[in-house]
Amino acid sequence: MAVSDSGAAGPGRTRPGDVDYMRRALTLARAAEAAGEVPVGALVVAADGRIVGEGWNQPIAAHDPTAHAEILALRAAGRASGSYRLGGATLYVTLEPCPMCLAAMVHARVARLVFGAWDPRQGAAGSAFDLTRSRSLNHAVDAFGGVLADECGALLKQFFARRRAPADD
Ligand code: ZN
Repeated sequence: MAVSDSGAAGPGRTRPGDVDYMRRALTLARAAEAAGEVPVGALVVAADGRIVGEGWNQPIAAHDPTAHAEILALRAAGRASGSYRLGGATLYVTLEPCPMCLAAMVHARVARLVFGAWDPRQGAAGSAFDLTRSRSLNHAVDAFGGVLADECGALLKQFFARRRAPADD
């Protein structure tokens, strides 16, 4: 298990089950990959351990710039829970969330964020930004990155390598 405690994503610790939930997020990411979308998968787990929402990246197919894996998982979780507040929930995602998705988690009062690969360019859990503990926001998300980071990152690297390769390669 590849777990990194580097970076600003902080006081959080892994918990039993984190790796299993991240494996499920990887399966969802592969659904995005199969559809030609950037392979990112996410799920929301309620405080009692039930998966209440799942999603994978699909902005191209949905013609929707907000159709990131995390947003779709949060929407599904809100519908399943009958509430836009998901207090006590943990969001698992294969890639460090962008600012939009992290802000959505703050709106939803998600308690924990567990992510796989770091995103040095857009990541908002300590890489490019840190919205997990912003004093300007009224909720802190306990974030932990690096869970199955190698597998999550490899999926993305392979996807972009294939996209760069010539068609006859
Ligand atoms: Zn996002």
